[in-house]
Amino acid sequence: MTCAVTESVSIGCPSCSMHNCTLPLPNTKACFCLAHADQATICTIYSCTAPTQEGCQTCSDPLHQAKEEDYCSAGKSCGLLTQWQQLAYLRGEPKLLNTQFGRHCMHNEQLLVHPCGVIIGHSTFYGSEALTWVMDFLLKVFPTMASMPLVLFFDNNCSLLWHIANRVVAPHFAQTALLVDIFHFKNHHSHGDTFCGTHCNASTYPKLYDPITKWWVFNSSICKQSNTWLRKYQGQL
Ligand SMILES: [Zn+2]
Ligand SMILES: [Zn+2]
Ligand SMILES: [Zn+2]
Repeated sequence: MTCAVTESVSIGCPSCSMHNCTLPLPNTKACFCLAHADQATICTIYSCTAPTQEGCQTCSDPLHQAKEEDYCSAGKSCGLLTQWQQLAYLRGEPKLLNTQFGRHCMHNEQLLVHPCGVIIGHSTFYGSEALTWVMDFLLKVFPTMASMPLVLFFDNNCSLLWHIANRVVAPHFAQTALLVDIFHFKNHHSHGDTFCGTHCNASTYPKLYDPITKWWVFNSSICKQSNTWLRKYQGQL
């Protein structure tokens, strides 16, 4: 019986600020890759497309400038934030302006680990831990049905099951039990989620539990242990 465990580890290396862009940064100070370098001349407020003022990350809009000033003075004064909120209120814009100053970091590294601790695959997720990315990652590491493990642990397997249902790749996963980590399941998935309880509950697979040792056959928490190990090297990654 083969088993694999997948989970994300938050090791944030700088990446292009364009959502989901996977291209490398040209230097250690750049916020955008070469293909998106022109974005550095556009106001960093998400809803704004006006050009930036010289030496600034925002346009000439005083609200946007105030937001940048507030970011630059973070930790020094809360006066500008108050001013900015008052300005927004006067302009009838009670909603916060979404933006990101400074460099963007990739979302996470996704690991795929055998219960023995050997890392069999990893992938950088730039924008989010979207289920499409997880599905594609699994298809790359296990390109054939024969290569798929019989058991795959993932904390969000119930959502992944919904995601792959009715897709052309659904048969690829048909022989694999997509389960939620045993300890994670107890805390997050056991109450009132009948779909998860029916399809992703390791307790419903007697072969996964050894009644003699009174312990689970596979270490479904191995990714968490690998993550702890990997985080020690975050500075070098
Ligand atoms: Zn880019
Ligand atoms: Zn602007
Ligand atoms: Zn669930």
